[in-house]
Order: sequence, then C-alpha cells, then structure tokens
Amino acid sequence: MKTPSRRRFLQISALAVAAPLAARLVVSDAHAQALPKLPLDNPQAKALGYIEDASKTTHASFKPGSNCTNCQFFTAATGACTLFAGFSVAPKGWCAAWAKKA
Ligand code: SF4
Repeated sequence: MKTPSRRRFLQISALAVAAPLAARLVVSDAHAQALPKLPLDNPQAKALGYIEDASKTTHASFKPGSNCTNCQFFTAATGACTLFAGFSVAPKGWCAAWAKKA
C-alpha cells in the first residue's frame, strides 16, 4: 500500500505534467482563432502577389504544387506566416516569397 506522502507526490507530479500541456492546448487554440485573415489589400501581400488560392495565380514565380502548406514560413497550427506577422494566411494560398518547407 502506498503511503499518503507517496500518493500525494504522484498526484502533484501528474498535475505538474498535465497542467502545462492543457494550458498550451487552450492557448494555441485561442491563438489560432485570434489571428485575423490577411487582407488582400495589405501592401506587402500585394507586393508579393499573395493570393488565397494558389491554383489561380498567374505570377511568373509560381511553381506548380507550391502553396502555403508546403512553405517554410507557414505554421499549420495557427495559419500564421512569418512574413505577415499578426495575420493568418490561407493554407492553399501562395505568394512570391514561397520557399519549400525543409
Ligand atoms: S511566405 Fe509562404 S506561407 Fe507566407 S503567404 Fe507566402 S507562400 Fe504562404
């Protein structure tokens, strides 16, 4: 039979592991919802030819098959793009800064 102090230690240890994981899930979900969609009239987005549907771009730099989901600047969990801080981009979007994800 476990002693009370050992049981208490195990309970606290379980909480110590579970609490940060749960908090991270809540924060990342809230963050994903918090990022507004990148406006198409954003000057940098326009300069880079950003488009929400990569299959519709006519940009000379476009490589078939490239889109935000396979770009190194994209974070799938939040929809964030390193180049457009504070905004989310469309997973099937594309811009001229696309770089293949490693
Ligand atoms: S840099 Fe990459 S992730 Fe960001 S908008 Fe352009 S293609 Fe999409």
